[in-house]
Amino acid sequence: MTALTNLLDLDPAQLVAYCGELGEKPFRAKQLLRWIHQFGAHDFDAMTDLAKSLRDKLATRAMIAAPAVISDHISTDGTRKWLLDVGQGNAVETVFIPEENRGTLCISTQAGCAVNCRFCSTGKQGFSRNLTVGEIIGQLWMAEFELRKSKGIEPGHKGERQITNVVMMGMGEPLLNYEPTVTALKLMLDDNAYGLSRRRVTLSTSGVVPMIDKLSQDCAVAMAVSLHASNDALRDSLVPLNKKYPLRELMAACKRYLEFAPRDFITFEYCMLDDVNDTDAHARELIALVQGHGGGTAVPCKFNLIPFNPFPESGLKRSNNPRIKAFAQILMDAGIVTTIRKTRGDDIDAACGQLAGEVQDRTRVQERMQKMTEYQQKFGKNFGRIIEVSQ
Ligand code: SF4
Repeated sequence: MTALTNLLDLDPAQLVAYCGELGEKPFRAKQLLRWIHQFGAHDFDAMTDLAKSLRDKLATRAMIAAPAVISDHISTDGTRKWLLDVGQGNAVETVFIPEENRGTLCISTQAGCAVNCRFCSTGKQGFSRNLTVGEIIGQLWMAEFELRKSKGIEPGHKGERQITNVVMMGMGEPLLNYEPTVTALKLMLDDNAYGLSRRRVTLSTSGVVPMIDKLSQDCAVAMAVSLHASNDALRDSLVPLNKKYPLRELMAACKRYLEFAPRDFITFEYCMLDDVNDTDAHARELIALVQGHGGGTAVPCKFNLIPFNPFPESGLKRSNNPRIKAFAQILMDAGIVTTIRKTRGDDIDAACGQLAGEVQDRTRVQERMQKMTEYQQKFGKNFGRIIEVSQ
């Protein structure tokens, strides 16, 4: 028996080719895209404007399947977090953060991560595997239609979109899973799929310089860079990838990227680590770095300071709040827009900093997944799932 093709794995061009293989015209691909990504359909029989013969063909050769939801939690502040099964004992997290005028989904691109940043528990887990296109876009597909269902909003292009922004800041380094990441990005931007603007999709990288250049040509979306240090010696110790692509090269790559980016600044993420990278001197060194003093490249930027979310193996502590504020003030006094990430979803373990790949506390993902399986065996498969969400 041949394996079924998961249509979530295909970008618009691949879907045209797939329809061609089935002896169908290219416009069928557009119809399929809309059914899948705008109506959230997973049953071919529901695709009423497709010929019955095509629906039958698809039913025997294809499927539409996102990773299975292991748990689904919603915080009192509306933050909603799903733990998703990506097979072989691996799980990834997807987090929805509602704000007044937008809804942001934070998605993962790899199970585990090989970059091994010192302050990130994903790094401590090691690398398991790259996610497929279907597993990446499937997070958006699942979340959008679950959110609509919870609110009783009909799917469809006229439906009220729940997810207005996507950040690739979950588990993994997206630029080390390049092709599937870019394919998923293209689906996010396609008008027949999610139709998000490039400004509303942000990719966060630890600084894979050649791939930053490649992305600028293939699919330039907004960019965030996990910086976390003001000089090479410190960054070598926090983000080992820095040894390969040091700060001077990274800053130059950021500047080049901006020529193609939908925004005119890079967001630098900076995890605040007590007595490691949080002194006044570090702030001043950062200013010199991003303003290109001493012959480097100046990079128009914004800073996002992230209070570290401690985990035992790190041996690191969170900077205290007055220190974070003082650090922010130095950057702001130099004319750099600076925000301090606020805490969301504390009660469901998706708190500030845990939302972003750089600092997400993932040490307990495996543990939680195992516990959830045990509980579901004991209390039924709906344990941990939110069936009704009160507004
Ligand atoms: S911070 Fe990002 S790149 Fe570094 S180990 Fe964590 S997930 Fe990987």
